[in-house]
Amino acid sequence: MASLSVTDVTGLCTPLPPYGAAWCDTDDMTTSTLLQSTDRGLYCPVADIYIDPWVAVPRAVVTHAHADHLQPGCASYLVARDGLPVTRVRLGEDASIQTVAYGEPILVNGVQLSLHPAGHILGSAQVRLAYQGEVVVVSGDYRPGPSATCASFEPVRCQTFVSESTFGLPIFRWEPDAEVFAAINTWWATNARASRPSLLFGYALGKAQRVLAGVDPTIGPVYTHGAVERLVAAYRAGDAALPPTQPVAERARGTDWGGALIIAPPWAHQSPWTRRFGAASTGLASGWMRIRGTRRRRAVDRGFVLSDHADWPGLLDVIAATGASEVWVAHGYTSVLARWLRERGTDARALPARPAGMGNDRDDGAAVDAGPLPQAEGSEAGA
Ligand SMILES: [Zn+2]
Ligand SMILES: [Zn+2]
Repeated sequence: MASLSVTDVTGLCTPLPPYGAAWCDTDDMTTSTLLQSTDRGLYCPVADIYIDPWVAVPRAVVTHAHADHLQPGCASYLVARDGLPVTRVRLGEDASIQTVAYGEPILVNGVQLSLHPAGHILGSAQVRLAYQGEVVVVSGDYRPGPSATCASFEPVRCQTFVSESTFGLPIFRWEPDAEVFAAINTWWATNARASRPSLLFGYALGKAQRVLAGVDPTIGPVYTHGAVERLVAAYRAGDAALPPTQPVAERARGTDWGGALIIAPPWAHQSPWTRRFGAASTGLASGWMRIRGTRRRRAVDRGFVLSDHADWPGLLDVIAATGASEVWVAHGYTSVLARWLRERGTDARALPARPAGMGNDRDDGAAVDAGPLPQAEGSEAGA
């Protein structure tokens, strides 16, 4: 990456009393000068900030607005500027949110902090911390490759890299987007010719907008569930070019849905809300569709393997591109990926998962999905 120059020397907010006395009472402590794994999430003691904390803290740096990363109730938040509209939808107007542009360093108690595109959802960021020659990057969730609905992922060199591992198994390999969207468009067009509605489920934050950007709007009208529409509006506020949509709720009774594509969050599936669409064909867009049997378990007609996370080769490529000598693995199949890296000579360790019941797994349920695999540690993220 390009060398950084400090253009804006500001603290995150007024210094608050030291906080986090409880942060070092777990056994398997992973520590560096800059970053510690604590029972409240990742903590930088020098800057006195938490990254994606699990509980409300005074100062939170948030990688992105999915519910398992964005803890409500913090006194102040720092997010990437692109992420402000979606963060506002999630936290409301009263939350104290500071923003910083991607790549623009700020100083926090002497720590140089900057955010870099993670390619996951609008405003998603990797957090880079630099202090006295040490550089740590916390990835949050990430998806390498070009992105139509958010800034594309950029690898950031560091000594210690904290990587997600939501799809950290070798079976997870994604097809090119063009192939996935061609399949979705063919499904929709076939249904439209039979005057059958196409009801497609995907996470309200991120996936729904990516689907919207990828479908062919000449096939028919596109309608949205309310939980999807308010985040579509936030994406539009952030300049995303998305085809026109209309909220289902604004349509009169007796609307003919034949030929339409309706985009809704997974939790709306088999709810009374879907009855109006009659014998719609149903589909689900998710990385979990790579697992055989998921379509049947989720009781949908079609599964489309479309993820906002890195697949297995993507994880390995990104980790290699950071040049990190030490890798901490968070989120998902942590022990599998950490072991794979250790066996190939990288100092890697799995971070503990957030304790069950801590934090906010399901706010409006829109961003969160259990995924079909109970053995996936902490795999509740929008996938
Ligand atoms: Zn996420
Ligand atoms: Zn996540």
